[in-house]
Amino acid sequence: MRRCKETVPASASPDQLKPGCTGQRSGENSPPEELIQFIKDGSKFIIVGHKEPDGDCAGSQLALQSALIRFGKSAIVCSAGPFKRTELKTYAEKFINIPTEEELSGAKFIIVDCSGIDRTGDELKDIIGKFPFAVIDHHAAVTHSPSTKQSPVYVDAASPSCTLLIEKLITALGLELTAEEATLLLFGLCTDTGFFRHLTDKNPDVFEAVTKMVRHGASPKNIYRIINGGKSLNSRILLGRILSRTESFFDGKLVIGHETLEETETYGLEGRDSDNLNKLLLSIEGVEAVVIIRQERVDNCTVSLRSTDNIDVSQIAASLGGGGHKNASGLTIKGIITDVKQIMLESFKNVFC
Ligand code: 5GP
Ligand code: MN
Repeated sequence: MRRCKETVPASASPDQLKPGCTGQRSGENSPPEELIQFIKDGSKFIIVGHKEPDGDCAGSQLALQSALIRFGKSAIVCSAGPFKRTELKTYAEKFINIPTEEELSGAKFIIVDCSGIDRTGDELKDIIGKFPFAVIDHHAAVTHSPSTKQSPVYVDAASPSCTLLIEKLITALGLELTAEEATLLLFGLCTDTGFFRHLTDKNPDVFEAVTKMVRHGASPKNIYRIINGGKSLNSRILLGRILSRTESFFDGKLVIGHETLEETETYGLEGRDSDNLNKLLLSIEGVEAVVIIRQERVDNCTVSLRSTDNIDVSQIAASLGGGGHKNASGLTIKGIITDVKQIMLESFKNVFC
C-alpha cells in the first residue's frame, strides 16, 4: 500500500502525546464527500477497529454504529480483540470477532483508528480486502491508499482522537448526537488525550466539540471513573515491580522498563496499566522517552514507546515494523527482553547521541 501523503501533515506538535499531534490546528478537515456518499449508497456496514482496542477505537466503532443505525443502515462492530483494558470490559460483548458469511453478504467495511489495514488483525485484514471499505483515521505514520470514490479515506493526523472525526461525520450526516454517542465520543477523546493533558493552544475546536458532547449528555466525571477506576490490586503491584527495575540511559533522557513472561502469566493482561506506567515514567525530570518491553511469548515481545516534545517515536516504531503517533507508538518484535533492549538502545542512539 502507498502512504497517503496527501492527507497527512508532516510536522508534529511538540507537546502532545497521543493526539493526532501535528503542528497545525486540529479540526480543519471535514469528512470527504465520497465518504458521505459511500455511506448513503450502502445498506449494510461492518465497522472494524485495530486489534487490542483502546477507548478511542471502541468508542469510534460504537458511536458510528449507533449513528449508522439511526441513519437507516444495518451496522455491526467487529474486533480481533483481545479486550485487555479494564475500561472496555462492559463494551467487549457488543463486538463480534469474525463476521459470518451472512453478515458479510452485501456488506461494506468502515475501518476506524487503524494506521493501516494490517492493524485490524491477520484474519480480518484478508477478509476486508475482498470488500469495499472506507478508512477513518488520525494516525501520523499511515499506510492507507489515497482516497477514491470506491474507497474513501478520511485521515486527519491533526485530530487528537478518532472519535472527533466520527463526531464530524455524524454531524455531516445531519444527525444530532444521542447521549450514548456523546459519551462514547468523549470516552475516546479522553483516552487519546490523557484526559486533555496533551492538548495545546492549537486545539480550541476540540473543546468546542467537548462542549457539544457534554451538552448532549456526556459526563466527564463518569468517563474519568470508567477510565481511571476499576483497577485491581495486582495491577498496582505489577506497576511497582516494573518501576522498581526501570533503568536509565543517555544521561537520564531514556528509561526502559520491562514485564517478564512470568509476570504476564501471573498478573494477566488485565494487570497491565500502560497509561499510568508511562505517565509515571515520563514525569521523571530529564526523561524524554520511555520504553516498556513486555515478553508476550517465549520468542516474542511487544514494545510500548512514549516521548515528550520533539522526539518522534513513531519513526523508531515504524523502522521496526510497528507504528503509531509521534509521541505514543508501539511494535511487536521477535526476541527476548535483553535482545530487544539492545535493539531499542541502538535505535535511540541515533536520537540521543
Ligand atoms: P501502546 O503503547 O498503548 O500499546 O500503543 C501506543 C500506540 O502505538 C497505539 O495507539 C497504536 O497507535 C500504536 N501501536 C502499538 N502497537 C503497534 C503495532 O504493533 N503496530 C502499529 N502500526 N502501531 C502500533
Ligand atoms: Mn486513536
